[in-house]
Amino acid sequence: MKITLAETAAKLKAANKILLTAHVNPDGDAIGASLAMLQILREMGKTAQVYIDDKIPTNFSVMPFEEEIRRPREDETFDADLLVILDTAPDRIGNVQKLTDAPILNIDHHVTNKEAIGDWYIEADAAATCEIVFKLCHELGAQITRNIAVCLYTGLATDTGFFNYSNTKPATLRAAAELVELGVQPNLISEQLEKRSFRDVKIMSAAVLTTKLFYNGKVAGMFIGEELQRKVDNTEGLIDLIRVIDTVDVAFLIKSTAENVCRVSLRSKMTEVSNIAKRLGGGGHIRAAGCTINKSFDEAKQILIRTIGEYMLENGYLRPAEYEDREEISLADYELPDNV
Ligand code: 5GP
Ligand code: MN
Repeated sequence: MKITLAETAAKLKAANKILLTAHVNPDGDAIGASLAMLQILREMGKTAQVYIDDKIPTNFSVMPFEEEIRRPREDETFDADLLVILDTAPDRIGNVQKLTDAPILNIDHHVTNKEAIGDWYIEADAAATCEIVFKLCHELGAQITRNIAVCLYTGLATDTGFFNYSNTKPATLRAAAELVELGVQPNLISEQLEKRSFRDVKIMSAAVLTTKLFYNGKVAGMFIGEELQRKVDNTEGLIDLIRVIDTVDVAFLIKSTAENVCRVSLRSKMTEVSNIAKRLGGGGHIRAAGCTINKSFDEAKQILIRTIGEYMLENGYLRPAEYEDREEISLADYELPDNV
């Protein structure tokens, strides 16, 4: 049942043993919202635990209590009276769903989240789930400690591309300002999140070299095949390196994560990439979305490029002549300076 923020707060107050979770392939918002909720609920005297069914990228250790996040083991159970699912619909929590049969409370900001399970508070206008959790703190009358503020700020910053993307609203900046007043140091958080090993930076350059342009340069794609995927530790932020190309509306990154499993990230300046991701079984936001294509890398590439082109043509983002212009333009076709 769709519920209000006040009802969401009441559900949390009424519960005693709360299992918190967020989506697999977790980002700063998923982890930030989970860890902020963990601290708020414990402050309220509740038993609370975060489970996420995935590896937690090392950069997110900037958030207090990150080491408390557990990954469900085979046949493990957790005694809970409420399962709070953050930053995703209930279909992307992996094996966490096997931990408990407790009623679900879903708090999310994805426009594609139409899951009608349990109770849900979905605010598609919120820049981040952390923005909703921030409002929830006020609704609950909870004190935002510096540690909670760090988690919430990290989620706001990562989901808005450090307050650059179109989802950055006055309310987002006001929330961020309040969190900074509570002791968050934005520069320290960005430094931690941006940190890369020398090896990863070198691999990033190899990834950039795979970039190709399609459809008269309006689409750019980066291709992390099996071999490159084995070497790269962190693909976070790679897509932003090609999103900036002047001719590009839609940028995509496709990586081979297992045999016949390809993960796709989509970003855009105009096109509603959430709709493209939905056509491929995924979802997300208007300008940042993703999906998984269960095909070989080569097949998945073809399907993805075709689906992007079809959607853009149907919705006026590509002219018919541009749609016909499917030719790939690779970096090799450009004259590179000798020192590159
Ligand atoms: P990213 O490209 O950073 O993995 O994801 C961009 C956005 O799309 C995030 O908000 C993420 O939660 C969402 N997203 C990514 N992959 C999927 C997917 O397979 N299904 C759904 N529903 N959302 C996704
Ligand atoms: Mn989010």
